[in-house]
Amino acid sequence: MKKTDELRFNAFDPALFCENAELAISLLEKYLEDQRPQGLQMVDPYLLEKKARSLMVEPSEATPIFDSDRFKEIIELYLRTGIHVYTAGSMGRQFSGVVPLAGVTDLVNSIVNQPSSFYEAAQLPNVAEHIMADELNRFIGFDKDEFTMVTTSGGSLANLTALLAARNNRFADVWKKGMAACQNEGVPAIAVSEDAHYSMTRAAGTLGIGENQMVRLPVDKQRRIDTGKAQVVLDRARAKGLNVFCLIASAGTTPVGAIDPLDELADIAEANGLWLHVDGCHGASLLVSDLHRAKLKGIQRADSLTWDAHKLMFVPSPCSLLFYKEKQKAYKAFHQEASYVFDKVPGICRDFNGSEKNYECTKRPTIMNLWILWAVYGRTLFADKVDYACQLCSDAYLLLRQMPDFETIHSPDTNILCFRYRPDNLPAGMPGDFQLEIRDRLSSEGTYFISKVEIDGETALRMVFMQQRTSLEHVKELLDKIRGLGQLIITNYHVLNN
Ligand SMILES: *Cc1c(COP(=O)(O)O)cnc(C)c1O
Repeated sequence: MKKTDELRFNAFDPALFCENAELAISLLEKYLEDQRPQGLQMVDPYLLEKKARSLMVEPSEATPIFDSDRFKEIIELYLRTGIHVYTAGSMGRQFSGVVPLAGVTDLVNSIVNQPSSFYEAAQLPNVAEHIMADELNRFIGFDKDEFTMVTTSGGSLANLTALLAARNNRFADVWKKGMAACQNEGVPAIAVSEDAHYSMTRAAGTLGIGENQMVRLPVDKQRRIDTGKAQVVLDRARAKGLNVFCLIASAGTTPVGAIDPLDELADIAEANGLWLHVDGCHGASLLVSDLHRAKLKGIQRADSLTWDAHKLMFVPSPCSLLFYKEKQKAYKAFHQEASYVFDKVPGICRDFNGSEKNYECTKRPTIMNLWILWAVYGRTLFADKVDYACQLCSDAYLLLRQMPDFETIHSPDTNILCFRYRPDNLPAGMPGDFQLEIRDRLSSEGTYFISKVEIDGETALRMVFMQQRTSLEHVKELLDKIRGLGQLIITNYHVLNN
């Protein structure tokens, strides 16, 4: 490289890196210090695009000299737009502010760029996977010599991978011969809760099972799978020629955070010869809490378990863990030859190579964010956060129960609470979706961000408690706002219709 080129391309200069990292970190410090409750402020995407384009170098500037002001402006715009997950008002989604130190370790991940599927490329990350598997299994309870774990980029991919392993376990020829290989064995099907996450439907579509072959198990009043009705539904499916091979339980459903009765479902799975998959993306983190672990009783009987650390363990997303009770079943998901990465005779590193158990080839070593926090703080950091979120949720539930103009829908198992505002003066037959209108008006007001969900065909409001910054006082203020907006909608209706 000529000297002039070196000067023009300063992008790899360590000193410049350091300068800009400091700049970004100082902006992040201010961002994290901002304690005002904030909801979601929606900016017109076309205007935002225009603004973003205005910050780019001109196409004619072929070799731009780095302009730190431009960089600063872009980072500032990033911080100003989109959801602010650290504020007390952020109560709408299952993601939240991370433990900021995990962001620092993620910066290290990005700079060292070790693809973590292979031990030789990412040695410490693969060792960290091994350690975290053991650490978390203390609370799951699989046989420690039998189980295994692999990380994936997100819980959806973890669920897909687990179902793939389950499918290949039952229908051994499908991997080579395709779905035609199960022609004589009945139509492959899976059993899921009415409230199962949509990644299950995607997995059914992707794996050639088909959405129509998802046998829906009814839920009880708390929206947990009704085990009293499950066997009848499975028998009916079999009578229709379906070959159900997997039963999927949720530990923390997405709509209401319900934890299915895992022990009883394990009995049903066992009696019917089914692979039991527990989708613990949301709620498996309750296992690290002494107060809440018992809610997941029976989880050690699952054949596979998914666990999102980017939800209730507050590490940057994605960081998903897929556990298998038996190591050999983890290898059922994928079969292929690729001499450039896979050895014919597995060496001593096999247990430390995620590659054979995971779809991804190049994979971010996101386990480092979780492991380093675990290494420096230990379990209690996570247990405290889980305990706080669940306690606030049950306090909010009790508060709602005391308010006659609000309707509760379920008693919360985790940190998600769904409810409706239903005052006595709500006009019967008022057109439109009252709950949805409240939620939309609340969003545009910009102090609190909550979500909505359909329960029994009707919209409900949904709060997800993730922040230590959110207190019961904030919940009270939010409910007051909901009441105010609801009454305003009713008044408007009367004015326009009388
Ligand atoms: C969030 C969630 C998923 C999907 O996980 P991602 O990491 O978002 O892909 C699946 N199942 C449940 C129950 C979830 O809460």
